[in-house]
Amino acid sequence: MKRLVLASGNPGKLRELQALLGGLGLELVPQSALGVEEAEETGLTFVENAILKARNAARQSGLPALADDSGLAVDHLQGAPGIHSSRYAGEGGDAANNAKLLKALAGVPPERRTARFICVAVLLEHAGDPVPLVCEGRWEGRILEAPRGEGGFGYDPLFWVPDQGCASAELPPELKNRISHRGQALRRLRASLEQRLGG
Ligand code: IMP
Repeated sequence: MKRLVLASGNPGKLRELQALLGGLGLELVPQSALGVEEAEETGLTFVENAILKARNAARQSGLPALADDSGLAVDHLQGAPGIHSSRYAGEGGDAANNAKLLKALAGVPPERRTARFICVAVLLEHAGDPVPLVCEGRWEGRILEAPRGEGGFGYDPLFWVPDQGCASAELPPELKNRISHRGQALRRLRASLEQRLGG
């Protein structure tokens, strides 16, 4: 088994990643279990922040490291909330973030409410790895005028998924995981890892 440190303390993410990367002979260890202190996310893009998190975990643990960074980019808001998605409205959490987003888009017609979720997953073999494996997923949709659905988290109640004809918060979790930005990025990561480990 090759050990990888996961640069996240989120148990949901650990489970999802373990499922998506199963069968590759990899053991994913959350950074909290190794006493890794969280990185400062000082980058200006998802890819920079994912690399900062992975490099920090690799440096502190001495293991290869996996990190992801994700968020919502709204066209009418020049890509906001973007890398600030989790704290768009300060410390108020999902409800405050969603309220702020609805306010920022008040009066904007449906055709100009286009948006996408982005996820960037990064694997560093070691802290000084100059060639990180970088995989991106994008999930296109539109911001609703009022929340719908009870599932998911974050901006899911406001994210209309045209292909499915419902909000992201109304999707069964397995379906969301399959088609979402995170699902896409991690499937690409798995495919690249399979190639690397097999090659
Ligand atoms: P992080 O990648 O865990 O830092 O997540 C960043 C933030 O982006 C989250 O706190 C959410 O606000 C938002 N976000 C990322 N992925 C999703 C998703 O699948 N649904 C809803 N919100 C998301």
